[in-house]
Amino acid sequence: MTTTRTAVVTGAARGIGAGVAKRLAEDGFAVAVIDLDEAACKPVVEQIEAAGGKALAVGLDVSDEQAVQAGVARIAEGLGAPAVLVNNAGVIRDNLLFKMSAADWDTVMAVHLRGSFLMTRAVQGYMTEAGWGRIVNLSSTSALGNRGQANYAAAKAGIQGFTKTLALELGRFGVTANAIAPGFIETEMTAETARRIGMDFEDFKRAAASQIPVARTGKPEDIAHAVSFFAGEGAGFVSGQVLYVAGGPKA
Ligand code: NAP
Repeated sequence: MTTTRTAVVTGAARGIGAGVAKRLAEDGFAVAVIDLDEAACKPVVEQIEAAGGKALAVGLDVSDEQAVQAGVARIAEGLGAPAVLVNNAGVIRDNLLFKMSAADWDTVMAVHLRGSFLMTRAVQGYMTEAGWGRIVNLSSTSALGNRGQANYAAAKAGIQGFTKTLALELGRFGVTANAIAPGFIETEMTAETARRIGMDFEDFKRAAASQIPVARTGKPEDIAHAVSFFAGEGAGFVSGQVLYVAGGPKA
């Protein structure tokens, strides 16, 4: 890479997004660290800068059209035209169907689907103009169906259809789009699930690991490694794919 390219990672103040932001910085990208609370992005930015990288904290809600437009313009000006987008911001509002509120359905759709759509639409112009871009969307093994997650499973399956369509529309401009579908990753999101079902997180992780072929739960770095592959120069012929990163086969 001759000039520094800019990568944009949403939901990057913690968890998988923070791991992805740090890995892309190690890979040589300048990184926009987006999350709801700008102050919460600062520690990730400071870690990247301390390691010699370049980063910018941006507070915005990915489901807010105006905020997304303004935030992406700020990133393009402050850091450089976005060349990589990782749609990672996510929430869960789990419940069995008969107890699921319409508000919890809408929230999950807004963050995962509307958020990914708005962010992608806002950055695609920079990528097509440059004739190079990489879009990586976070799906989940829950896309295959998961009890208590009708909203989340539908959104994560939707992300896969969205990704394949982006690959079809943007390929001719040098832009690839792929999805990563993680299994159990140790983050605040899985800790929250453990709390909801009244289980100690360590016991919850042990129980999950016993069902995973590689006999362990995943870490943000496992997902960051896959993002790094899709974002790389060499992955230009890989597009429209869904990669399950779950310690075993899923389909
Ligand atoms: P996490 O620890 O809960 O982090 C998600 C981040 O997204 C949080 O910092 C959150 O901010 C932010 N966020 C939420 N809504 C947002 C919005 N509207 N705009 C901007 N940022 C927003 O979750 P994670 O486990 O790292 O998950 C990251 C992604 O991987 C998600 O898309 C998730 O669905 C997916 N995934 C995770 C797992 C897993 O096992 N952990 C498995 C499969 C897929 P706040 O803290 O302010 O809410």
